[in-house]
Formats: sequence, structure tokens, C-alpha cells
Amino acid sequence: MKKPTKEERQRACTRKRRYRSQGDALDAVAILGLERSRKAYPCVLCGHWHLSTG
Ligand SMILES: [Zn+2]
Repeated sequence: MKKPTKEERQRACTRKRRYRSQGDALDAVAILGLERSRKAYPCVLCGHWHLSTG
């Protein structure tokens, strides 16, 4: 599997919802019932948190 390019990361960042903190992101995951398929990760581009698959 190839690594995401900088452009792909930028696109994902722009497209994804941002969370101010890990706690906010994990709260959203719990509310959506996605604990098994999503995890929160810190974004180096915007400094916020996004939800990732896998
Ligand atoms: Zn981001």
C-alpha cells in the first residue's frame, strides 16, 4: 500500500471534521458508535484532531 502524498493529506485535512482535542474527537466517535472502526489522530497540518479508519 502506498503512502499518502502531501497533497492527499492536505485534502483529507480539508475534508475532514476537526476536533480541538483528543477528548473531543473520542467523544464524537463514541456518539457516532464508531469505536471499532475509527480512531482519533493528531493532524500535523492543522494542529487539530481528525478521525481515521483503521
Ligand atoms: Zn488537519
